[in-house]
Amino acid sequence: MNRPQIKPAISWVFNSRNAETQEKLLIDHPVYLAECASTKMISNNTLEVSFYISSDQGFDFNAGQYLALYFPKAEAAISQASKNNTPALYELPCFDNSTLLRRSYSIVSSPQEFDKTGKVSIAISLIDGGCGSTFFKTIKPGDLVFALGPFGNLNLDLSIRFERIFLLGTGTGIAPYLSMQEEIKGLWDKSVDIVAGFRSKTQAIYLDQLSSLNQYDHVTTEICFSREKLPTYHYGYIQHLLPLLMLNPKKDCFYLCGNPRMIDAVKNQLINEGFCLNKNLFEESYTFSGHLDDDYPFSISHLL
Ligand SMILES: Cc1cc2nc3c(=O)[nH]c(=O)nc-3n(C[C@H](O)[C@H](O)[C@H](O)COP(=O)(O)OP(=O)(O)OC[C@H]3O[C@@H](n4cnc5c(N)ncnc54)[C@H](O)[C@@H]3O)c2cc1C
Repeated sequence: MNRPQIKPAISWVFNSRNAETQEKLLIDHPVYLAECASTKMISNNTLEVSFYISSDQGFDFNAGQYLALYFPKAEAAISQASKNNTPALYELPCFDNSTLLRRSYSIVSSPQEFDKTGKVSIAISLIDGGCGSTFFKTIKPGDLVFALGPFGNLNLDLSIRFERIFLLGTGTGIAPYLSMQEEIKGLWDKSVDIVAGFRSKTQAIYLDQLSSLNQYDHVTTEICFSREKLPTYHYGYIQHLLPLLMLNPKKDCFYLCGNPRMIDAVKNQLINEGFCLNKNLFEESYTFSGHLDDDYPFSISHLL
């Protein structure tokens, strides 16, 4: 496929209530064009989408970070695409004055893969009727979205003094840890425990990749299903495993990612045990969008 020439900078006109803050955000974080490379259902409710982001645009990221993707409401994209017989979003200026929506997604692929292929992948848990879910269900190779970022500080500090590293994620919240695979493999002088929580096996993602990390002596992966009892898997919420871990805040370090309720529950337990936020406890909460502040109403003025 011929990839469209991707332009490095976009000028935006804001009509939002927080124009000043957002303008600063966009200046600090350039906007990139991301071209859909492929899509794949990876569980009964999770869609993996890969994008090309041209490195000519200066894009780069650290394992554990996320992108904010901007896209028009699905109906606008579809009707415009069929009218022009072009891929949705391809003819960007036609979206002048349309409202774009913003949703955040963790990058599941590694920086090393991006260096090789120019692609980044995200895993989207599809919510019935959700704006982002509806849009991404219809995205196809060649379609374009805007990407802002990368954001987030859920990065493994390779110089860390801790002996045991616990990486806890629910659902698509395990994405940052898969992105960190190469770093994790190199932490052979520590012990790394990845604990992934899903509702059931049909909703689980990346089980093969997670279990293949078990081949490294210093890595253990544990899978918990909260709504299904199966041999060789834990039954219950991932926070139920904490009392079994003989926690030691001087030697242990926790990363938490995913469902905000899981994060609050685990964080409270760990803080009671003497852990301290941003010292030996790091989090990325997938706070639900779908409220007004997340639907940033601004329009594209023109492309530079
Ligand atoms: C930093 C960050 C990283 C994120 N990374 C990911 C990621 O890697 N993968 C991913 O799938 N999502 C991720 N999210 C969540 C994502 O940004 C969206 O909020 C989510 O996908 C729902 O968007 P939507 O537009 O489909 O639904 P919306 O239109 O936003 O919501 C529709 C309705 O569903 C409710 N709702 C929204 N999400 C959920 C949910 N999870 N469970 C139950 N009800 C819900 C809303 O309150 C609303 O009533 C992340 C969020 C943040 C803040």
